[in-house]
Amino acid sequence: MSNANQKTELLGLLPAQLADALAPLKVPAYRVQQIFRWLHQRRVKDFAEMTDLSKQFRMDLQNQFYINQPKIKQKLASCIDNTVKYLYQMQDGNCVEAVRMVYHHGVTACISTQVGCRMGCKFCASAPLGLVRNLTAAEMLGQIDLMDAEYPEEERVSGVVLMGIGEPLDNYENVLQFLRLLSCQEGRAMSLRHVTLSTCGLVPKIDQLAKEGLALTLSVSLHSPNDAARSALMPVNRKYPLDQLLAACGDYFRKTGRRVTFEYAVIRGENDSPEAAKQLAQRLRPVFPGMRPHVNLIPVNPVQDTGFCAGSAAQFRKYLEQEGVNATVRRTLGEDIQAACGQLRRNEMQDHNSNS
Ligand code: SF4
Repeated sequence: MSNANQKTELLGLLPAQLADALAPLKVPAYRVQQIFRWLHQRRVKDFAEMTDLSKQFRMDLQNQFYINQPKIKQKLASCIDNTVKYLYQMQDGNCVEAVRMVYHHGVTACISTQVGCRMGCKFCASAPLGLVRNLTAAEMLGQIDLMDAEYPEEERVSGVVLMGIGEPLDNYENVLQFLRLLSCQEGRAMSLRHVTLSTCGLVPKIDQLAKEGLALTLSVSLHSPNDAARSALMPVNRKYPLDQLLAACGDYFRKTGRRVTFEYAVIRGENDSPEAAKQLAQRLRPVFPGMRPHVNLIPVNPVQDTGFCAGSAAQFRKYLEQEGVNATVRRTLGEDIQAACGQLRRNEMQDHNSNS
């Protein structure tokens, strides 16, 4: 990626791509590795900090390349737990959100993959604003780096969920590049077993992802067990209805050996009845034959203007268990800063519009 000054961005490049980019400077292979480590292990954002390179070489790098770095525009820290919600500003002024969550097993970053989203889910704060653009791999890494820069080394992010603003599979190539960089052994070396990619159900992309041989967890947002209701909540269902989506989930499991998890936001009066639980169980039983399906229930966040209210996730869990479906209720972190995903950006855009 090049910016307005025609400099090439380096953080988003894999080692072989970095070698190609640096080829005009006649950089030997060991120097390329050195620079990759500075970018991905030490995570420096300024060539001047690459102190084992000569001053002249650092200046040459500075003149021809740049390192992408979003900045923190706003930060909300929970007083209840250690959850921190960030509003990041990209170099072109666009904003996205990310959340740092502390679990007993480590620190997880929930990051955004697009500026906005075009999937139009009715319960989502990002949907009404539409898609502005895709994020690059470097902009996704930058979201994690900014969190890590605020904490000691031993509290670095150890897991990532792609569940922030955007539909990751709608930004397929950049997300794949991000995953390759994240798991690159010469760099961050994060196991993709610690990564969850959440999708609203882009079936052809799920099929494509199944062929990549990645060990990540695929999480599919279902939110409803029947097509009419799901299409009303999630327009993507009109194009890829439940039969197709669940068949793709079954194929994904057969090809990768990794079970798909299902997300279900419990919305009062929409999808929380005993009948909905029965339908959901009927849908899910054939997907992974011989195994009890598993659903993550999400207590829905109130979103301005959507009119949706939280249903009882605990009650719906009981209905599901009566139908032979395992369910967990997702622990809600950072309840005191619980603006639903996309709301910080939405508020920021409203403030910006009313000031201009
Ligand atoms: S819920 Fe996800 S896929 Fe749906 S509109 Fe919001 S960001 Fe997009």
